[in-house]
Amino acid sequence: MRITRRALVAGLGLSGAALLSPPRLRAQGFDVTPFQLGVASGDPSPDGFVIWTRLAPSPLEPHGGMPARPVDVAWEVASDERFRDVVARGTAVAHPMLAHSVHVEVSGLAADRSYWYRFSAFGERSYVGRSRTTPVAGAPVRSLRFGVAGCHHYEEGYFHAFRALAEADLDFLFHYGDYIYEYPTAPPLRILREVPFSPVRLHLGGETFSLDDYRQRYAQYRTDPDLQRAHAATPWFVTFDDHEISNNWAADRDEKGTAPEIFALRRTAAFQAWYEHMPVRRSSFPGRDGVRMYRGTSWGDLVSANFLDTRQYRSDQACGDGDKVLCREARAPERTMLGTEQERWLIDRLSRSTARWNLIAQQVLMMDLDLSRSEAVTQRLTSMDTWGGYPAARERLFGVLQERKIANTVVLSGDAHQHFAGDVLRTPDGAPVAAEFLVSSATSGGDGLGAFPGNAEILRRNPSLRMLEDRRGYGICNVTHESWTTELISLSHVISTQTPSSRVAQFMVEPGRPGIAQQS
Ligand code: FE
Ligand code: CA
Repeated sequence: MRITRRALVAGLGLSGAALLSPPRLRAQGFDVTPFQLGVASGDPSPDGFVIWTRLAPSPLEPHGGMPARPVDVAWEVASDERFRDVVARGTAVAHPMLAHSVHVEVSGLAADRSYWYRFSAFGERSYVGRSRTTPVAGAPVRSLRFGVAGCHHYEEGYFHAFRALAEADLDFLFHYGDYIYEYPTAPPLRILREVPFSPVRLHLGGETFSLDDYRQRYAQYRTDPDLQRAHAATPWFVTFDDHEISNNWAADRDEKGTAPEIFALRRTAAFQAWYEHMPVRRSSFPGRDGVRMYRGTSWGDLVSANFLDTRQYRSDQACGDGDKVLCREARAPERTMLGTEQERWLIDRLSRSTARWNLIAQQVLMMDLDLSRSEAVTQRLTSMDTWGGYPAARERLFGVLQERKIANTVVLSGDAHQHFAGDVLRTPDGAPVAAEFLVSSATSGGDGLGAFPGNAEILRRNPSLRMLEDRRGYGICNVTHESWTTELISLSHVISTQTPSSRVAQFMVEPGRPGIAQQS
């Protein structure tokens, strides 16, 4: 049975006005609902998923306006959206140490179907979220439809992409990172993508460094009704990229050369706030050594998915970062993008996979593109923050894909704030080893220029690149045993509240034949 998420979300009565409800008097001393930040679910498995909420009657105030004590939160999961058949219920403690967030790992559910969930506390009920379990590994399944999004700077646009994703009838959403941006409030007028830009709304506060700074930033983003809709509509597999912590960080280094033991304090605070606000499992609980975020899942016999962490274990960007001619340092054989353990884990999963498709869902561009934007530049420029700046790590991975004839790999990426679609080549004139779809930002970069200056030159220099477009948007993947189709959706605008028009570029991949087979 498939219930359309459009009907569901309409049924929730989620208007912006309802979410940011007018003050109502309550016996418990709050004058608004404590569920201002909505609900979410994530990390689905065949027998359950995580359900999340955070109590925050005043989301932007310290501790979300909550008293400094643990609070019981009741939760329910039902097999129908009216909660006639409640299949699991319990009580979770919202701790002040975790910003009064709760993460319930619901288990014992049936595979491959939808469920509905809600919370209550202080005599108030949250609105209803819809989640779904995955099919059992290896079980025959015909299709999968999921969304891809990330990079949504709050000041640079409205979250229309998430409104659309909430209504897109998805099995899950993959978030590639940059859920928040750590930057301070922007000046009223600045230059964005080479044109003057004034922010559509403002970050509260300065650059985020402390746990309270990051908590307030997540809370501000999460007050957005469209982002709440997208969380309530479908389970997410979230990851993180750089801006959840600091621009272009790499393992224990930031880009400013801060002493690692000092940067570690910031990273620890950022990871805790990330955990507090994301529907992730206990296995991603923040610890002294960071967060174990990379993980795998499967969708029956159709897809084996690998969600990677390309930040926490990587070697520092070589050649001074930026778009550079590859220097000697970049070619060092020991350089890594995933770290030894994660790299071994990925290669092992790819080698053992019996699914029709292997998905590598991660953060940064994997195609090694020549990014020279001008004909006058004769040298080949590589983005040192992407896989191109880690040639030994690429070669180790692609060597395995070719030698073990793993010919059904699709790569999803983000970070670059433009749509990219193309074939991943083992070497610049080698054969394709996979297709890659880098999904543009949901808002970061403002409306965009369509053809960003130099894009035509990048397309000319890289024949394996089929599309490069500077628009905001999101992606949708429709997967069957016969084909993998990725839709890259471009939005007409994000800087006005009016609903944008959208345009779709569609790319088809065939199993057993690496790279893009067709586009329309
Ligand atoms: Fe970004
Ligand atoms: Ca990024």
